[in-house]
Amino acid sequence: TSKDSGKNKCSVFDLEANRHQLRRMSLEKDLRKALARSEFMVVYQPKWDSYMNVTVGLEALLRWRHPEHGIISPAEFIPIAEETGLIVPITYWMLHDVCSQNRFWHKEEIASVPVSINMSARMFEDGSLYDVVAEALTCSELEPHFLELEITESIAMHNMKETVAQLSRLRMLGVRVSLDDFGTGFSSLGNLDEIPVNTLKIDQVFIRNSKMHSKKAIISNIIAIATHLNMEVVAEGVETPEQIELLKSLGCRVMQGYYYGRPMPVHELGEWFIANTAAS
Ligand code: C2E
Ligand code: MG
Ligand code: MG
Ligand code: MG
Repeated sequence: TSKDSGKNKCSVFDLEANRHQLRRMSLEKDLRKALARSEFMVVYQPKWDSYMNVTVGLEALLRWRHPEHGIISPAEFIPIAEETGLIVPITYWMLHDVCSQNRFWHKEEIASVPVSINMSARMFEDGSLYDVVAEALTCSELEPHFLELEITESIAMHNMKETVAQLSRLRMLGVRVSLDDFGTGFSSLGNLDEIPVNTLKIDQVFIRNSKMHSKKAIISNIIAIATHLNMEVVAEGVETPEQIELLKSLGCRVMQGYYYGRPMPVHELGEWFIANTAAS
């Protein structure tokens, strides 16, 4: 049997799985100290209005500067942070950092746009998100409409009543909410009108060059749904002029992607704003 044949051999798969497991454990250990050691950094990616040619928002994205491994991508450490619950204090830190930063940009008249932060399901578990958000806004003196929370369909659908109640309170405070990676979760279409969101973010999978033309019908219908529900639309992962032309022809106005700007550290954004706000 396959069980016997694998018994005395250490297969490539075992080695690979083992190495993966070891890295996972070592990263988890380091992640527990990362916040205290100031190893996290926030980078910001612009959301671009392709009609007006101005920045209409920024998305804050987390980077981990590991002392030995260098920059570690969120794809690798966010799942660990979510499993261990470390995502909660990390996101609290980020809320404060991002609000203060955005208040500075606003006060110095460098930029006056909402900045969004990605939320994990964990953030809605103990009911304290509202208080933490309110505190971050008060401490930083940032106006609530300059803060946006990005949630996914699965977060909205999970424990929907309770999540919607928390989102509604945040919306009443003036905080914006967007639905990230839209179109990859299916489940929420029937309840979409019950989730209090300002913006739908069309997932990158629909925008990819190879897929774009075959996905035209889906993209234009997402835009139609959003319009009927009074929501704004952002297309994610825009990399080429062809994608921009097609998206514009479908009525999509706001775009985010490497074509317009990669996620940038704070020190690059001052100059970036100067070069990119002349049109207003
Ligand atoms: P997301 O929220 O959907 O963020 C968009 C991701 O797509 C970012 O990757 C961004 O750098 C990348 N991206 C933007 N434009 C393009 C493009 O034109 N082409 C391609 N190929 N990629 C593009 P990143 O920063 O690696 O983050 C990956 C995911 O990790 C995020 O997806 C989000 O789900 C999660 N994440 C990142 N930061 C945080 C955080 O602070 N908290 C939580 N909970 N999750 C986060
Ligand atoms: Mg996002
Ligand atoms: Mg996304
Ligand atoms: Mg994503």
